[in-house]
Order: sequence, then structure tokens, then C-alpha cells
Amino acid sequence: MKNREELSKEPVAPLAADLHRWYAQNHRVLPWRGITDAYRIWISEIILQQTRVVQGYEYYNRFVSRFPDVRSLAAADDDEVMKLWQGLGYYSRARNLLAAARQVVERFGGEFPTTYDDIRSLPGIGDYTAAAIASFAYGLPHAVVDGNVYRVLSRIYGIDVPIDTTEGKKVFAALADELLDRRNPGGYNQALMEFGALYCVPRSPQCGGCIFADRCMALATDRVDELPVKQGRTVVKPRYFNYFYVRHEGNTWLRRREGRDIWRNLYELPLIETAEEEPLDSLQQGEAWASLFAGAGRVSVSAQVYACKHVLSHRIIHARFYVVETEKEPAMPGYVRIAVGQIGDYAVSRLTEGFLEKLSMNYPSLF
Ligand code: SF4
Repeated sequence: MKNREELSKEPVAPLAADLHRWYAQNHRVLPWRGITDAYRIWISEIILQQTRVVQGYEYYNRFVSRFPDVRSLAAADDDEVMKLWQGLGYYSRARNLLAAARQVVERFGGEFPTTYDDIRSLPGIGDYTAAAIASFAYGLPHAVVDGNVYRVLSRIYGIDVPIDTTEGKKVFAALADELLDRRNPGGYNQALMEFGALYCVPRSPQCGGCIFADRCMALATDRVDELPVKQGRTVVKPRYFNYFYVRHEGNTWLRRREGRDIWRNLYELPLIETAEEEPLDSLQQGEAWASLFAGAGRVSVSAQVYACKHVLSHRIIHARFYVVETEKEPAMPGYVRIAVGQIGDYAVSRLTEGFLEKLSMNYPSLF
């Protein structure tokens, strides 16, 4: 295996000609491919950051049909954008899209910027996305480095520098830049990523018929499964959410999540978060319960109707949902009262969406 110094001592064999040929015969036809509209390329790249193509496809079509250009997005209502994003997760992407669209209008007169540095200066756009937009839309010579690129390059060139270190990022950025086809950077970038997405996949890559099989270091040294190398693993922290679907005279209560926490700007049901799992009777003794249900008279809680573990990138949410009927209107400080039938108009997390779906299937009378 090679480290950075060894790598810099030898010329690297280019990939471009083989990749272009492979791409011409194997690529998927997708609505954001073969276009030069920077706005649409940007939307597709943000949607695809943490989303599989199959799922992203529908969201992309809905998004660009509702907001066909950067001006229409900049003028959009925040809640409508969040609702359109519902189910995709990683909601900071939607918030950044809105902020960036508004900056494009304010700083660039509504025209999507055309240089790498200006594109990179927008919220939510990092090195990868800026290189993708600059090369796909404007043919600028910037190499993309995403998970696919790390995997393909680490295997073909046999590099075991961990990709999640400063050193690793430098090594791969330099190699990707050296390999970039400067006559067709956009096409080359697409081809390299598509090869990683379809052929040189994380588990069981198609080494048998691979165009690089005769020069792939990982294959030659039987280390395909070990590359790329990652140093650290994200620490996953558990959280315990107890949600209450509260009903009184055809109304229920929601609030918008604020602050620097997960699901900012999404709506949620009344919540009591605890440090560990707590049974209902213990929750009912606590101050949070007393505050939510002050003045509510008799409070009847059905058995917990939905419980699940919801896994996010750095959190596991242990969630329980209860249905609650109150005799009088509860205090619900910080929550807004809405008609039960309107709950579907609000953007909620995928966790809450799952609960509402379950409820509508099993207890349709509660809607
Ligand atoms: S031979 Fe296998 S590991 Fe090497 S580039 Fe091809 S698909 Fe990837």
C-alpha cells in the first residue's frame, strides 16, 4: 500500500479515456444529467448528498417543478420548502437551500454565480458541491471528491491513508486534481462518480468485468474490502423522546423546533425528553407533564400506540408516542393549537410522519 510520499514519487496512470468510454455505455439517464442549468444541478446535488438516487428522483422533480428557478425559490415560504423536503431527512440542507437562493438574489442579482469561489461562498455548498456545479454547468477544471471518488481512487491506486483525516483529504484532493480530464472536467467527474456508484461499490464490487482490473492495486493485493480506510467512527448518542398526540374538541397541538438541535424548523407534537427511558407513570409525576397539562382537568392516556428506535447519523432516538384526551383545554406552553384535520399541512420529521401514518391506518377515527 502507498502513503502520500510514495505516491508523489511516481506518475499516476490516467483514467479518463477508459472512464469516458465506460460512462458512454453504462450511465443512468437522470433528469439532472446532460444539462448546464446551474440552479437545477445545484438542487440535484443537494438532494443527493444524503439520499439515494431512487428516492431523490421524485423529490427533485417535485422541487424543480414547484420552484423552477432560483428567484422562485428565494421568494418561497420557509414552511412550504420544509414541507416539500419532508421525508428526505438532514433538514439543514433545505434551510441552506433557501438561504443560498436568497443570497443569489441579493448578492448576484438573481443569476447563479459562475466562478468556483462565488459558488463555494453560498450556504450549504462545500468543496464537493462547488466543484460539481462548476464543472457540470460551466466546464471549469475542478475535481470532485465524494465517497465514490475516495473508494475508486483508494482501490485502483492502493492508498490506505484514512480518508477522514486532514492528511487523507489532501492526498485524495491532489490525486483527483492530477487525474482530472481538463478538456472535459464535467464529463470526467460524472463518469468517475458513476463508476463508483454502479461498479466499484462498497460491498461486492464488480471486479470480474472491471475495466481497471488489470491495474487495480486493491484487487492485486486482495484488499478490496479493506479500502478505503476510515480512522474514526462517529459516536452515536441515545436520546429519549416521549411524544403526546393531544386531543381536545377536535384540536391538537404542535410546535416548531428551534435552536441548534435536530429537526430545526420542523413541527412536532408535545414532547417530554428524558435522560433515560421512563415509564408513563413516572412521566406523569414530573414537572414537564404538569406544565403541559395544566388546567386540562381529567387527562386520559391511551396505551402507548407507537414506539421505535429512529436512527440518525449521530443520534439514536428512542421514541414513544401516546394518544391523550383532555377534559378541558390544556396549557401547552410554547405549542400552537390547530385543528386535527390540519396536521398534514405541517412539515414534520420522518419519525413523526411514521407515527401519524400508523395512527391513520390503525385508528382512523382519531383523525
Ligand atoms: S477491480 Fe474491483 S476494486 Fe478495483 S476498481 Fe474495479 S471494481 Fe473497483
